Amino acid sequence: MNEHVTTDLIAKMLAEAGLKPRILPRGTGLAVDVGSGPRTVAIRADMDALPLMDLKDVPYRSTVAGVCHACGHDAHTTIALGVALALSQARELPGRVRVIFQPAEEKMAGAREVIAAGELSGVERVFALHCDPRLQVGRVGIKLGPITAACDLIEVKVSGPGGHTARPHLTVDVVDTLSRIAVDAPGLLARRTDVRARLLLTWGAIQAGDAPNAIPSEGVLKGTVRVLDHAAWADAEKQFRSIVSDIAAACGADVEINYERGVPPVINDDACVELMRGSIATELGADAVARTNTSMGGEDFAWYGEHAPMAMARLGVHGGGTMHDIHQGSFDIDERALGIGVRVLARTALDALTT
Ligand SMILES: [Zn+2]
Ligand SMILES: [Zn+2]
Repeated sequence: MNEHVTTDLIAKMLAEAGLKPRILPRGTGLAVDVGSGPRTVAIRADMDALPLMDLKDVPYRSTVAGVCHACGHDAHTTIALGVALALSQARELPGRVRVIFQPAEEKMAGAREVIAAGELSGVERVFALHCDPRLQVGRVGIKLGPITAACDLIEVKVSGPGGHTARPHLTVDVVDTLSRIAVDAPGLLARRTDVRARLLLTWGAIQAGDAPNAIPSEGVLKGTVRVLDHAAWADAEKQFRSIVSDIAAACGADVEINYERGVPPVINDDACVELMRGSIATELGADAVARTNTSMGGEDFAWYGEHAPMAMARLGVHGGGTMHDIHQGSFDIDERALGIGVRVLARTALDALTT
């Protein structure tokens, strides 16, 4: 968690507006309440950048080599700051709006820091926007149900004595074992999972051996398991371990499985999405409401859903020309999206407090 300078800057600007920001215990990330009363709704922005070179040729390009806001979290932070400052100008609010500036989303660690600090306690509903370069600026994409996937990291280490490729029957064929796991585990895991959960096991790395005539003594597979359903996510690790162990046993190989559970899916709540639809239409007109698709990417906003009904919408940031995807060093936004984001989230928070 490295967002110290950003945290200090936001805290200073909030304090100058007469607000009382609370910096999270580790010193990065903060939250602030605007308004008061028995009801609290939250909006959440993430703050962190990615370890990429910023390839944009603009005055606001990154000044830190190898650190780039390629996921638009600087826009999310700016929008949330705008919401807090705008609402602080209101004479009276219908309740309390908690604005959360969350660190370390890309590391999938920050949301749990925010929750551990108690910032979700008493929150009735929580909302967020994420930049979408596929959507035209001025439009906001909404979706009922899952909008991002659960994502787990998997690593399978296979080992045996090694030996001559002329005599695989006298040893354990590690390359053959890895290949069988690589090909068969995705299909077998999918067969043990309700197809409506849309489980996806994909390998990102496979490494073993060097010589053409020697069976190596070890090899490794790395990949991800993604799924759109809580129950299937809860079951995936057990099923994966069972399938991989069985394939390795049939090959006579030793196997070590590291299964690192990541984040749950973001499941948008029906009522929260409907509320956002109305708020977007109020601010921007009904034509601004777009449909968006589920992403199989992970998003640690999901953890907030364990504490309050939630909705994440996609903010159109494409202003024309070539589309540069998020997580590319060339990613950029049409800055008109910033004001639009402020209006949408501020309106959503106020509507949530009055319905
Ligand atoms: Zn990202
Ligand atoms: Zn992001």
